[in-house]
Amino acid sequence: MRRPIVAIDGPAASGKSTTARLVAERLGYRWVDTGAMYRALALKVVREGIKPWEEGRLREMLGRTEVRLEEGDGGLRVLLDGEDVTELVRSPEVTRAVSWVCALPFVREAMVQLQRRMAAGGGVVMEGRDIGTIVVPDAEVKVFLDADVRERARRRWRELREKGMDVSLEDVERELEERDRKDSAREHSPLRRAPDAILVDTTNLSVEEQVERIVRMVKAYVQAAGKGSL
Ligand code: C5P
Repeated sequence: MRRPIVAIDGPAASGKSTTARLVAERLGYRWVDTGAMYRALALKVVREGIKPWEEGRLREMLGRTEVRLEEGDGGLRVLLDGEDVTELVRSPEVTRAVSWVCALPFVREAMVQLQRRMAAGGGVVMEGRDIGTIVVPDAEVKVFLDADVRERARRRWRELREKGMDVSLEDVERELEERDRKDSAREHSPLRRAPDAILVDTTNLSVEEQVERIVRMVKAYVQAAGKGSL
């Protein structure tokens, strides 16, 4: 019998990637970071100098682009046409471009199709903005992770500083708010909580606590469904 699909959605820096990675590790499931897939496309858009009004060029680019996620010893690697771009997709330039690239309906259609194929076998923790609403609305376990914007900004700021980037907390907070606004306001697949998603507010939770909560939800589902042990 198929193992569950765990959908984790939420705003930027709410802890989705860290949580999804650890939940997947604990359960022996695959981890799919859909944000990284949109980021890989945005990186290619930046490299090719495609502008938001150049839809034809972007369509053409999409037709000759392959985005893959591969789990290895060093964690999840993002492959763009076979090149490992895991680190590159986190640059501020890519982060700025991804908001408009991912809002285009034909980009979303292509990515959603790919993501559905990746989820199809079950035993997967998939995180993003529209996983529980659009990509796999029938996911067995749906979580909406959220946290106070100040706290999210602090987390992202610490992360960037650790990577040696010199950014101010205020700028990080502004950038997060701006991205949340765009993600929530866009016409196609906006960021919103699915009615049946369980809200987990991580403002005052440790990573271990939030991971534990979700692992428990999955185990409870599996037990209730009588699908055997994990
Ligand atoms: O999660 P992450 O910050 O890496 O995502 C980068 C961007 O990709 C988000 O700001 C959002 O605009 C977009 N995204 C999306 N749908 C998803 C995942 C990410 O639109 N399922």
